[in-house]
Amino acid sequence: MSILVVGSVAFDTVSTPAGSVTEALGGSATHCSVSASFFSPVRLVAIVGEDFTQAHRKPLLDRKVDISGLVTAPGRTFRWTGAYGDDLNSARTLDTQLNVFADFRPDVPQAWRDTPLLFLANIDPDLQWDVLQQVHGAKLVAADTMNYWIEGKPDALKKLLGRVDILLINDGEIRQLTGEKNLVRAVDVVRGLGPKTIVVKRGEHGVLVFEGHNTFALPAFPLASVKDPTGAGDAFAGGFLGSLAARGLDGDRDVRRAAVLGSVMASYQVEDFSHDRLMRLTDPEIRDRYARFQELTRFSPLS
Ligand code: AMP
Repeated sequence: MSILVVGSVAFDTVSTPAGSVTEALGGSATHCSVSASFFSPVRLVAIVGEDFTQAHRKPLLDRKVDISGLVTAPGRTFRWTGAYGDDLNSARTLDTQLNVFADFRPDVPQAWRDTPLLFLANIDPDLQWDVLQQVHGAKLVAADTMNYWIEGKPDALKKLLGRVDILLINDGEIRQLTGEKNLVRAVDVVRGLGPKTIVVKRGEHGVLVFEGHNTFALPAFPLASVKDPTGAGDAFAGGFLGSLAARGLDGDRDVRRAAVLGSVMASYQVEDFSHDRLMRLTDPEIRDRYARFQELTRFSPLS
């Protein structure tokens, strides 16, 4: 089944200890869509400015992402500037320019309003809410957010969470959202707000997935070199949700497979700047790293 993604499409200026890029294609919806496209058909809803050219659209089209919901408006595309120090787990935001996103009123194409899986990627929670109202047919709703919105629009975010099935969030952000330092207690607080499944992303320390009474822990893939962590969370979401869209969500087994595929995609995402590594990625490479994750986490029962 298809997945509908709404989120940011951006020009990112990023510096890391491995180098820097200026105005590279980025945004939560971009990274997530490229990643999910390896597993299921993707429909993208977002807005860009007049400075977004055909060449910028090409990577999305090459990955067969349906961009009929990508609106071009007068003005400039969203821009984000971030920097990473030696701690690659958290970006320092140096500048956020909402530009065309400031006045965006999403209008989901009629034919897309019954898309079964809706991903509200990181963007203004009011926009996430608008899209949610329009996609009546969604059977599964997932959402992501970040500190910028937790600080700026906490009430809109909490209202949204009342309608969300799966929340993907960083460890620092779930602590900030709930005021709880302990992750297990923070997850309980979020459950009280709505989502039944909570995926806590912990950067190089991996992910914790809380689903019903089950908890699943997965390390990040050990890499000798990380060039740019930007979009790791979105690439994870793409692998995770793309897998659920392709195979369904019928219990623990599906959630675990999805979490491994999310981790596989995140591990490739950080190997290069922007979407560069995922644009060269092949299906055999995904299978290979999935198998290496199996080996990485294998152990025998205590006898
Ligand atoms: P991630 O590294 O997965 O958390 O996401 C990185 C992406 O988030 C970048 O490509 C940015 O363009 C995008 N981004 C940064 N700040 C915001 C924001 N306030 N709203 C939406 N997207 C953002």
